[in-house]
Amino acid sequence: MTEPRTLIGGSGQPPAGLATRAGDLLQLLRSSPAGYSRADLLEFTGMARSTLYERLDALFAAGLVYESTPLRAQRGRPPRALRFDDRNKLVLCIEIGHTHAGLHLLSLSRDIVASARVPVDIAEPQEKVLNHVIHVALQLLEGRQPVGAGVGLPAPVDPLHRLGLERSILAHWDLQGLQETLEARLDCPVLLENDARSMAVGEVRDPLESLVAVKVSTGIGSGIIVRGALVRGAHGAAGDIGHVRIPEAAGRRCRCGRDGCLAAVASGRALLAAPQFAAYGTLRQLVDACGRDTAVRAAVTEAGRLLGRALAATVGTLNPGRLAIGGLVGVLPDFLAACRQQILDDAFEPSLMDLEIVSADSRTSTAVGLCRLVEESLYAPERIEQLLSDRTG
Ligand SMILES: [Zn+2]
Repeated sequence: MTEPRTLIGGSGQPPAGLATRAGDLLQLLRSSPAGYSRADLLEFTGMARSTLYERLDALFAAGLVYESTPLRAQRGRPPRALRFDDRNKLVLCIEIGHTHAGLHLLSLSRDIVASARVPVDIAEPQEKVLNHVIHVALQLLEGRQPVGAGVGLPAPVDPLHRLGLERSILAHWDLQGLQETLEARLDCPVLLENDARSMAVGEVRDPLESLVAVKVSTGIGSGIIVRGALVRGAHGAAGDIGHVRIPEAAGRRCRCGRDGCLAAVASGRALLAAPQFAAYGTLRQLVDACGRDTAVRAAVTEAGRLLGRALAATVGTLNPGRLAIGGLVGVLPDFLAACRQQILDDAFEPSLMDLEIVSADSRTSTAVGLCRLVEESLYAPERIEQLLSDRTG
């Protein structure tokens, strides 16, 4: 699936000087949940009636537009709204973590229709993990055909597949192969994205918002949204803050092979590897003990403080309006409080004005973000033009 080029969500206003391709008409209809009448579309686009109707016919035939109830009560024949047909369209969202995969089936209105969670070990070969995940996905679908699928991965994802995974936890995986296998087995387009970046997209509340979402689980990653646009960077590595060096981590070996990374001291992996916590077998067990084990609580608090130290630089650089901290470790109140305090202590005051530092809605935001990204990609004007030309050609 191609990278979505649009911003996240529409402004709700018809764009000025709108081009008149069918794909652009669909984009306009998607920006308004109430839809538009034919008269509205004629006025907004300045198109000739015959051309507009021809484009709409193609969208109707492709099942992308439907005619809904009358827009407003009036005498005579009331105008009917044309809407983007998001009915019965499902997106499969798969979040692959270090030890678990979360699967959610969502409608395009972001309702979660079905969910499953399966243990995986991403240190194992890609084929083995995928077979397991696909087996559960097909059970979850119960014969329903998704319009697309999105996969969140705990590694940098370069849309052009030029940045390798060598330094990541998925060094032994191949993204191109992953996408091709999933597309073949699920019989729909598949989009791959970094998990923290997907979470950031799922956290967007306002189309022009600037926010940073940070996921702290086994590893640490972040997703950056600047005035509604997702920042991937030149090669998909934007937001990979786990490998920023901090003085407190000097001499500590990180999984990436370097010394001194933030993740070497503040990640779930680092917490779990501490000798004093050897009794805890999994990160979940360690996290659950935070309320009763004072040593765990102290370690989690220190990890939050260290993340805050690194994030103060992010806040100063990007001036986000909201920082949403999620992930198994990130949502712990002690972690969040210590992180918040360190940012307030370290960042320059102007970048702190009106800054919200909150817990991310971890349970659903990654799936919602993946669903949004898949929708933006599937219904991008260029893709719709190609789809319609394939249908007639
Ligand atoms: Zn590192």
